Amino acid sequence: MNEVLLEAANLSRYYPLKNGHRTAAVEDVSFSVRKGECLGIIGESGSGKTTLAQMIAGLLPPSGGSIALDGQPVHADRPGELRLLFRKMQMVFQDPTASFDPRKTLGYGIAEPLRNGGLSKAEAGKAVKELLLRCSLPAEIGARYPHQVSGGQCQRAAIARAIAVRPQLLICDEATSALDMTVQKQILDLLLRIRQEDGLTILFISHDIALVRQFCDRILVMHRGRIVEEGVPGEIIARPVSAYTEKLISSVLYSD
Ligand code: ADP
Ligand code: MG
Repeated sequence: MNEVLLEAANLSRYYPLKNGHRTAAVEDVSFSVRKGECLGIIGESGSGKTTLAQMIAGLLPPSGGSIALDGQPVHADRPGELRLLFRKMQMVFQDPTASFDPRKTLGYGIAEPLRNGGLSKAEAGKAVKELLLRCSLPAEIGARYPHQVSGGQCQRAAIARAIAVRPQLLICDEATSALDMTVQKQILDLLLRIRQEDGLTILFISHDIALVRQFCDRILVMHRGRIVEEGVPGEIIARPVSAYTEKLISSVLYSD
């Protein structure tokens, strides 16, 4: 069994309500991810998936609990520490353009984390060419702006940017949800290939249980901010423990 890469313990995130009470977007969530594993997190809209992803990525401070990546604590309020952690952990968002500055070319955006890491312009340029190739994008895409390419191409470029620093963990938050079915499949194939090539660990967040089932080694089911189920896809689907998971499964028609 591989060693643990990510450890989340008793994570919570509360938001105040107008009536003086508070709502829990995430409540008392604990889980771990082993090196090389692909862990799926599913749940309907509003179940707390994005809040959880942002806390893990250091983009949002938790109200309580702790996160450790490769043995190091993730503190959203300590930018100096986060800069180092960002080299180990990268995120791909639902909106493919979210990873890029609309006024800069995709090539510039992909090179940016490499330049920040100390590479010269020429070295970064060479690396961008290789990254585009790895992500099955033509070299000329590097000179285009985010709005000049298709959603699928932009998401490939976002993946190229995310893997540029050779992170250990990739957090994909609904990374294929804005794309049509054919493109979704292509992006998943790309992630699978990179996973194999780089031994990447993936946290794959989706509302689509059918998708997660094909892609992930293990699944967590979230409902109202809590984890209601955890296991390998086949077992969860054959024998769901929670009524909520059963509902999620029965709402999906399987083709096989
Ligand atoms: P998901 O990604 O599963 O759709 P989210 O994490 O986006 O879920 O949201 C979980 C819950 O937290 C929702 O009820 C949402 O309304 C609430 N929430 C998220 N962000 C905020 C915020 N900034 N202020 C208040 N409530 C929020
Ligand atoms: Mg979300």
